[in-house]
Amino acid sequence: MDLFEHEARDLFDRYGVPVLRGGVATTPEQAREAADRIGGTVVIKAQVKTGGRGKAGGVKLADGPDDAEQLADDILGMDIKGHTVHKVLVTEASPIAEEYYVSYLLDRGARGFLAIASVEGGMEIEEVAVSKPEALARIPIDPISGVDQAKAREIVAAANFPAAVAEQVAAVLVRLWLVFVGEDATLVEVNPLAKSTDGKVLALDGKITLDDNAAFRHPAHEALADAGAGDPLERKAHEAGLNYVKLDGDIGVIGVIGNGAGLVMSTLDVVAAAAAEVGAAGPANFLDFGGGASAEVMTAGLDVILGDPAVRSVFVNVFGGITACDAVATGIVRALDQLGDRARKPLVVRLDGNNVAEGRRILAEAAHPLVTVVATMDDAAREAAKLATVEA
Ligand code: GDP
Ligand code: MN
Repeated sequence: MDLFEHEARDLFDRYGVPVLRGGVATTPEQAREAADRIGGTVVIKAQVKTGGRGKAGGVKLADGPDDAEQLADDILGMDIKGHTVHKVLVTEASPIAEEYYVSYLLDRGARGFLAIASVEGGMEIEEVAVSKPEALARIPIDPISGVDQAKAREIVAAANFPAAVAEQVAAVLVRLWLVFVGEDATLVEVNPLAKSTDGKVLALDGKITLDDNAAFRHPAHEALADAGAGDPLERKAHEAGLNYVKLDGDIGVIGVIGNGAGLVMSTLDVVAAAAAEVGAAGPANFLDFGGGASAEVMTAGLDVILGDPAVRSVFVNVFGGITACDAVATGIVRALDQLGDRARKPLVVRLDGNNVAEGRRILAEAAHPLVTVVATMDDAAREAAKLATVEA
């Protein structure tokens, strides 16, 4: 789970990482009040879970409360790379002398952690990594010994931080490590870590990704998940215990439901190929309902998939194993019954495996106008692709 900048900032503050005073606002009036409280020049920053806000016009300096209200009004509602701005962070504006970059991340390949540091922070670090890779120091971190003062100095030396800030940066690195370990993060990134004109080192922007697998030992993280709106359909699916993924990009038009990750993955390939044949866009999303296909599970699953406005047709691809095809068929029939008017898009169903004859019989008997039963996976994918090209 990615956190908003203001959430990362609060965690930094709690662990003693120096940050600027600030407050969150969801309305221009609240931004005015925050600016009034802070006093002087403030920075208004769009809170969206994507980088490059500065370049997109989502970070602005405001000269007092009037200006803060006006700028917050401009920034709230703005679209930054597909993310709508619902909140702004109003912070003290610190005049900046230098901008650095530091991060800790999980290095899966090395089965360990990695520190990345650079004195060329501020702008997009990905660009620095490509155009000037030698400007990024990469230091492996032993998961057991972590980052103590000595290790922090090693990072500082490797990245060539100026002597004047070396001790401060090392102290920040030790505290950021405590955030990383203490919160079970897979990424803690500060860009920029800034030196103010009066020589203080400050975390001006923070990104934290929490390890969802460790959520059980951080009850406090639940509040962060609620605050971060996320995709409402993904939340709904998660609550129903379903594995649902909205595919990147907004061009897909075919919903995919199946049982088992392997089957669902190959279904996506077949659907993509079938869609290409008829010039339709490919899969919009997919849902793996795993082992159980009760009516409840099917209803929840279809509700999620049909709730995606991009979906024009749905391919339900099931290989009956422990969950027999008749249970799946009954689930589909009852689900459509329960969804009533909410189900408006055509469903192509391919059943095979355990008790397939009975499953097909149940679907044939129900003869639901939205359901087409097709015997093979390839033909079913083609049918779903064809139906997706029909204007609703
Ligand atoms: P990002 O573009 O999404 O990474 O947003 P940042 O929070 O990193 O802001 C982009 C740029 O705005 C930074 O690199 C800074 O140059 C500037 N900026 C951000 N916060 C402050 C601040 O408190 N004071 C000043 N003067 N500039 C800031
Ligand atoms: Mn940044």
